[in-house]
Parts: sequence; C-alpha cells; structure tokens
Amino acid sequence: MPGPDQQVRPERQPTAPTEDSADVIVVGAGPAGSTAAYHLARTGLDVLLLEKSAFPREKVCGDGLTPRTVKQLVDMGIDVSEEAGWLHHRGLRLISGHRSMEFDWPELSAFPGHGLVRRRADFDELLARKAAAAGARLVERANVAGPLTDERSGRITGVSVKLGEERRPVEYRAPIVVAADGNSTRLSVAMKRYRRTDRAMGVAYRTYFTTPRHDDRYLEAWLDLRDSNDPARRLLPGYAWVFGMGDGTANVGLGVLDTTGTDLDWRDLLRRWCADLPPGYAYTPEAVTEPIRGSALPMGLNRQPHYADGLLLIGDAGGTVSPGTGEGIAYAMESGRYAAETIVQAHARRTDRGRELALRAYPQKLRSAYAGYFALGRLAADLLGRPRLLGAAGAAGLGHPALLKVAFRLMVNLTEPNSKDALDRLLHLIGRVAPGR
Ligand SMILES: Cc1cc2nc3c(=O)[nH]c(=O)nc-3n(C[C@H](O)[C@H](O)[C@H](O)COP(=O)(O)OP(=O)(O)OC[C@H]3O[C@@H](n4cnc5c(N)ncnc54)[C@H](O)[C@@H]3O)c2cc1C
Repeated sequence: MPGPDQQVRPERQPTAPTEDSADVIVVGAGPAGSTAAYHLARTGLDVLLLEKSAFPREKVCGDGLTPRTVKQLVDMGIDVSEEAGWLHHRGLRLISGHRSMEFDWPELSAFPGHGLVRRRADFDELLARKAAAAGARLVERANVAGPLTDERSGRITGVSVKLGEERRPVEYRAPIVVAADGNSTRLSVAMKRYRRTDRAMGVAYRTYFTTPRHDDRYLEAWLDLRDSNDPARRLLPGYAWVFGMGDGTANVGLGVLDTTGTDLDWRDLLRRWCADLPPGYAYTPEAVTEPIRGSALPMGLNRQPHYADGLLLIGDAGGTVSPGTGEGIAYAMESGRYAAETIVQAHARRTDRGRELALRAYPQKLRSAYAGYFALGRLAADLLGRPRLLGAAGAAGLGHPALLKVAFRLMVNLTEPNSKDALDRLLHLIGRVAPGR
C-alpha cells in the first residue's frame, strides 16, 4: 500500500511488445486451425490458437458439409444430430439440361451416409470453442502481423500480433507454427511460400434467398453453367448450387473451377443465373436476404512447400480445396489433423534432427492422401468446361445418366476400397496411384 505522502503513478504503458510462448502456435481459427488445435491440445501440448476476428464471425461459404466433414466432426466428439441444430441431407441432386438425378451418399465403412448444412458463423465458432474446451488457448482479436524468425537459420520462432481493438503489440513464440489463415495466408507469403502458377485458380460467389425449397434433403448442383451473355453459350468449368438451409432460406451460388482466360463479373452472372431458376424456387431479387459475396478457391495443393523452417501449411493456406468440386471444409479439417499428428510425433523426438525428419513427413502425407483424387478432380472440371472432351455427344452428353453417375463419383471422393462396384474400385485405385506433385 502506498503511504499518504506517496503518489500512485498511473501504470506505465508498455512500449515493447509483451511475450508469451507455447509448444505450437496455430494462426487462424477456421475449420483447419480449430481442428489442428483440437487434436494437438488433446495430446497435452500447449497450443495457442490465434484468430484475428471475434466469434461469431461470418465466412463466405456454400454451407454444404459432405460425409467427409461429418466424419471429422464425429471424431472431435461433436453432436451432429438434428436436435443439436444441424440440417441433415441424403445426397446430391445433379441437374444437367433437362435431366435431374438424385444420388444418395453411400453408407461406407469410413464415412456416414448423410451430410449436413450449417451456417459458417455458427459452425466455425462451434469448432473453435471445441478446441478451447480441449485445452487450446484461443485468443480472439489476435491479428497476426508477421513471422518472427531466427536470423541465422531463417526458421520461424513465433509471430508478432496486434492484439485487441487497441492493436497492442504482442509477440508469441513457439518452435512450430501452423499457418491456417485461409486463402490470403499472409503468414505463408511472409515466409516466402508463394502460390504455384501451374495450378488452376477457382472462384466462388454466393448469396441467400427465401424459398419454399429451404428444407430440400438433397444438395443441388446444376452442371451446365453458362454465361447467358456469351453468344456461343460456352460451358464454364464449374456449377451453380442451391443448398436449402432449413430456416426458410437457401444458399445459392456458383463456383468456377478454372478461371484461366475468363474475366466475368461473377456477381452479375449469379444474379442472371438465379433469375432463370424455375418458378418452384420462388426466386425474385426481393427474396434475396444477403449481399452477394465471394472469394478465390485455392486448389490442388497450390502453395508449397507444406512444411519448411518450422512452418506447416493447412487448409486453404496450403491450397487443399478439391479442384473437382470446390469443396474445402473436409480437406481443411483433414489436413489440420494430419498436421497435428505429425507435430505430436515430432514433439516426442529427442533430437533436432529427429524432430525435423518427423515434420518433413507432412507434405508426403498430404500428397498420398490427395494428389491422386485432385488429379481426377481436375479431369472432372475439364470435362465440365470442355464438352468436346466428352466426344460426339458434346455438352448434351453431360445429361446422360451414366455420365452423371461418373460425375457424382468423381466429385464426391467417397469410395470403399473393397467394394463390389467396379467403378468404385477403379476410382479408389486411380485415386491412390494417379501422379501428382
Ligand atoms: C463462396 C464459397 C462457397 C464455398 N462453399 C463451400 C461448401 O459449401 N462446402 C465446403 O466444404 N467448402 C466450401 N467452400 C470452401 C471453404 O469455405 C474453405 O475451403 C474453408 O473455409 C477453408 O477453411 P480454412 O480453415 O483453411 O480457412 P478459413 O475458413 O478461411 O479460415 C481462416 C481463418 O484465419 C483467420 N485469419 C486470417 N488472417 C489472419 C491473421 N493475420 N491473424 C489471425 N487470424 C487470421 C480468419 O479470420 C479465419 O477465421 C466455399 C468457398 C467459397 C468462397
């Protein structure tokens, strides 16, 4: 206690950044970062999960979750029942020309036979809180400004952060840092992990509208996406979707999986596409409830190396979006888990060399898991965008039931290794051996 003659000085404002440290820092609490932080924390590692925004926060998305994502959620002990707020769906409806076919998600040994829909504001907060409940130290409003590096080795040793609304400078240190900061991944760029220009870049845009079809039990994909202003009415390599949200609205959007040589106003294209929806959807411009928003889809493992100098790249930061569908959440979560498993192994090693060897296994894990399927996905996107490849039937061929079945199998990446179905076995095999870099 200060005596009566002593003055109480106001607390000195720190001029130098304050410091904190952990075993692992994960930058970004999207699906990739929260999944990685959850699995790391569960093994007892001290994990800092740094997120620039505060939950709940919006993330532009189609809100469609396939059985691959359901598996990851169940593995994290998340209740995915309808009573817990999830809308379940049975499969995918593919529409091409005048043909519409419904494909149920297969019930497989590794994956459940249903998918889910949930708004990202809700979904991402749930995952981040799950990671925190498992022991990860979640810090919101922690905007990572850049890496801290060892001058001699160039290795990452932590990150500098602007913390809170007052943007107070803080430094966090850890021997291993995970970049889960999404498509723009400033952290990877600052560590000189540039985007591969030989990989296609996609874009996706979405909005919501009120519709009587809001509780549709199938995700709906319209395959013959064209620009109605194009006199040649060329097919675009992608599709438009309508995903019922179960709350009176549907998420409607379009994804173009290769924008090479295409310079379109995507918002305008989506508006025009929606205006052509059949009357049963009750689409009108007045039924739209949110502005059209979109962003790039980093696909085909397009940012590399996925590990070097203490930094691992997961999710969109590492370009894990599927080039065949634009699906990104399942792969973000899976890559987060692969990274966590790798880090746990590395942490248990006794020497620097051993740790480094263990960490270097991560890029190979990603390649083994995805390179084959992503190569098939590229092929599927090519078929969508270049109907001549489909042979004499041309674009109309896409409406053929057998081709729609193949399109479904190529798109979903859900196969059973020992299936009796010949196509299933073939895709599983090609997915494992197709070349990829
Ligand atoms: C229009 C559209 C529709 C889509 N629809 C679907 C769909 O229906 N299903 C599907 O599976 N995929 C879909 N995707 C893809 C999917 O959204 C992404 O693949 C997925 O969000 C990737 O997760 P992530 O955790 O890697 O990155 P993100 O979800 O982008 O999360 C990154 C996190 O890092 C934080 N962050 C960024 N910078 C910093 C920083 N400097 N400091 C601290 N934190 C930072 C961000 O705030 C964010 O929370 C869609 C994409 C788009 C654009």
